[in-house]
Amino acid sequence: MIVGGGVAGLESILALRDLAGERVALTLVAPQPELLYKPLLVEEPFDLGPAERHALAPLAEEKGARFVQRALTGVRPDEHEIELDDGSTVEYDYLVVCAGGRFVPALEGATTFPSGELSFRADELLDRAAGKDHRVLFAVPAGVTWSLPLYEVALMSQRRASQRGIDVKIAIVTPEAAPLVIFGTAASAAVTELLRVRGIELFVNSTVREVGEGGITLRPGDRALGPAEVVALPLMEGPGIDGLPADDGGFIPIDDRARVKGVEDVYAAGDGTNFPIKQGGLATQQADAAAEDIAHRIGEGAAPEPFRPVLRGKLLTGDESVNLSAEIAGGGGEGEASLDYLWWPPHKISARYLAPLLYHGEAHEEPEPPRHALDVEVALPKEWHEEPTALDPLSPPEVD
Ligand SMILES: Cc1cc2nc3c(=O)[nH]c(=O)nc-3n(C[C@H](O)[C@H](O)[C@H](O)COP(=O)(O)OP(=O)(O)OC[C@H]3O[C@@H](n4cnc5c(N)ncnc54)[C@H](O)[C@@H]3O)c2cc1C
Repeated sequence: MIVGGGVAGLESILALRDLAGERVALTLVAPQPELLYKPLLVEEPFDLGPAERHALAPLAEEKGARFVQRALTGVRPDEHEIELDDGSTVEYDYLVVCAGGRFVPALEGATTFPSGELSFRADELLDRAAGKDHRVLFAVPAGVTWSLPLYEVALMSQRRASQRGIDVKIAIVTPEAAPLVIFGTAASAAVTELLRVRGIELFVNSTVREVGEGGITLRPGDRALGPAEVVALPLMEGPGIDGLPADDGGFIPIDDRARVKGVEDVYAAGDGTNFPIKQGGLATQQADAAAEDIAHRIGEGAAPEPFRPVLRGKLLTGDESVNLSAEIAGGGGEGEASLDYLWWPPHKISARYLAPLLYHGEAHEEPEPPRHALDVEVALPKEWHEEPTALDPLSPPEVD
């Protein structure tokens, strides 16, 4: 039983079908009829079309899975049953919960991106900035660990402003020690240089304290900036599922095989777990770990590998070609930053099973050259999944 029609849920279906073959009967439960490919939400404010969506029913059918369009309301682990929002119950042998997280606005007076609907139109945002000292400020709130989309909308806004010949100052405020430092110091240095070349102002080790009509105040030190249009990432809350354990934020605690701590035969993967970095590639790696464990338990597949997180990110930068290449060292191995592909297929969410499936469905056989994106890949320190709460992703990882 797989709950959730996001990337973690679909990866679970695909991995289980591959690893356990016809020995498993699969059911997918999700309230929405479609998978929303969230990384491409960054293109919506720029009128580049709505983010990709994929109908779940045919994907499930193709893999021989039953699709139930319902929301999970609770789990009864002792009975091996889930409850759905129509009051019905369904039995499971193994359950994989991939219910994602919920966005919560983090900063009053700011435009929250992303939100449930189109948060802003870039052209309108840039026009409004004319009345606010010609400044647009993109803010990463404290507690957000996946800040890449904020850098993307800042870079794309800068590009749009220069295309339109508008005089707008773009700034980024972030609690990170350096931009995208989670990828390591060399990749971060490459991003810093990219921002400098684009004329994007950067305030690191800082957050926005207040958005006022008269101006913006930053922490620490009540540093005052002039007025600005502000776009901020939201915070995330966990799904808080009745019958399953949750931490203070509502996230489901898992171990390095994606097993829910203290609950027999229940697994969880993706943004809804207590793994601190809420990222699609990592979500699918957790789903793969869960599928391997389940397959092995029913006598299929090799001994399961624990979840070894590798962070892969493709930074959309706009249409300027910037040649960057760097080797970075994460806690668990070498990292790289490059304009060449670092993984295949070259999807924003790198996933063993889901990426090839979605890539196959695309019209063109060969991808466009990666002119507009910077790929970064780094193995994360293994302590990060052994003791997720010890993680401080906003400080630079150690460099060998
Ligand atoms: C703007 C933006 C850009 C991003 N860029 C990248 C990127 O470049 N690379 C990358 O790897 N990641 C990126 N991410 C992160 C990535 O999108 C998420 O980490 C990923 O979507 C998490 O997948 P998930 O399956 O855990 O959750 P979700 O994608 O949130 O899916 C959750 C699913 O569970 C369902 N659900 C919710 N509640 C219930 C319930 N009660 N019962 C049943 N089903 C339920 C939902 O309907 C949904 O189908 C980005 C995210 C955003 C917002």
